[in-house]
Amino acid sequence: MEEKKDYRAELFYEPKNGYETMDAEQRSAMEAYCEDYKRFLNDSRTERECVRNAIALAEAQGFVEYVPGMELKTGDKIYYSNRGKALLLAIMGKKPMSEGAVVAAAHVDSPRLDLKQLPLYEDNELAFLKTHYYGGIKKYQWTAIPLELHGTVVTTAGETIDVVIGRDPDEPQFMVSDLLPHLAGDQMAKKLGDAIKAESMNILVGSVPYDDEGKDRVKLAVMSILNSRYGITEEDLISSELYAVPAFDVRDIGLDRSLIGGYGHDDRVCAYAELRALFDLQGAPERTAVCILADKEETGSDGVSGMKSEAFEWFMGKLCRATGSDLDDCFAHSVCISADVTAAFDPNYPDVSEKRNAAKLNYGVGLHKFTGARGKSGTNDAPAELVAYMRRVLNREGVQWQMCELGKVDQGGGGTVAMYMGNRNIDTIDAGVPVISMHAPFEVVAKYDCYMTYRAVLAVYADC
Ligand code: MN
Ligand code: MN
Repeated sequence: MEEKKDYRAELFYEPKNGYETMDAEQRSAMEAYCEDYKRFLNDSRTERECVRNAIALAEAQGFVEYVPGMELKTGDKIYYSNRGKALLLAIMGKKPMSEGAVVAAAHVDSPRLDLKQLPLYEDNELAFLKTHYYGGIKKYQWTAIPLELHGTVVTTAGETIDVVIGRDPDEPQFMVSDLLPHLAGDQMAKKLGDAIKAESMNILVGSVPYDDEGKDRVKLAVMSILNSRYGITEEDLISSELYAVPAFDVRDIGLDRSLIGGYGHDDRVCAYAELRALFDLQGAPERTAVCILADKEETGSDGVSGMKSEAFEWFMGKLCRATGSDLDDCFAHSVCISADVTAAFDPNYPDVSEKRNAAKLNYGVGLHKFTGARGKSGTNDAPAELVAYMRRVLNREGVQWQMCELGKVDQGGGGTVAMYMGNRNIDTIDAGVPVISMHAPFEVVAKYDCYMTYRAVLAVYADC
């Protein structure tokens, strides 16, 4: 009997729960890492806030802002903010850029409710803000929860005004109303996806009329508050990027505190893993290590701050030229970890996954050879050679990983920035943290998987 057991261990692939393999030292390192991540996530509720906070962390680690024309040498640590909405960081390697860079790409935008450009109106002596949802949301999840307003207003004088309302405990918050069950018979009979209309997702912002005789007195009162606080008028809102985001604090979840609940794990959990991995690299890497925090992933990666933008070529091209290399040679020899979250198997909804290939909480960083939908359309497909490379490096460094897929075949699907990196002639693989309730206002991840994702990015940065 004993012999047969060993034979099985030798031939079968049997992943283990991380808590069965982790020692006390690893566990305390994991806890410390996750406390840092929780702080970052709690303070980073928009892509601009993520970029700003990432720059502050990077500068504390000795990174300096890249200025075109700057001389670059091995070991230099630089960052470049793309319009304050996306961030590129690099540590110059010992080898020339023509031998390739090691790129980790995550995104820092998350689903939310954007304010329309003409948002403010009054109806029935209540003031509201019109919204246009951003990214893939289940609309019913965004009603009757506390919301905060974050973003930026730019005046015609060119002044940029940052807005955060509702984060401090003594500040007001906001909400989108929902029907009481008593009167929701018609609504409840609708399909879940039709029950909440996008144009009814209006944010309640006031109810007190301004002390005068004219029309729209509640709207005027709200506008007067915005004017006294920020010096803006209604027309200034036209050139604003204001978002309503969930007001929940980032908290431990579970009696054993093994999970983290919060808004925007997708994909700030991987963005933070990349940042920390870059910061924790000892000495100059062999090949230049690049960290990307991209915007607009949730809407298809288009536009100047998205991963399809040539801002990436611009930045990498500058690094190449500064060190006498060609960009096309660099891309051809680069490797990219597309660090984005994946769907964790949820025992409450087992039907959407195929258990043997689904990511499990506490089983480590989730690798995807491909994502996409139907017959694998709309995806990068990591070459088997790259998958083998990841196995080799992660196994050697004791980083727990799992190979997974995004739901069972023909159930749906999704994508990441991986294909836009693959299209650039860069060998790319998806790797990230499994999430429960992805894209909900409150998402859940396992601390162990957060830590292993950081360790995975660090292992690849350090190896190459
Ligand atoms: Mn994502
Ligand atoms: Mn997403």
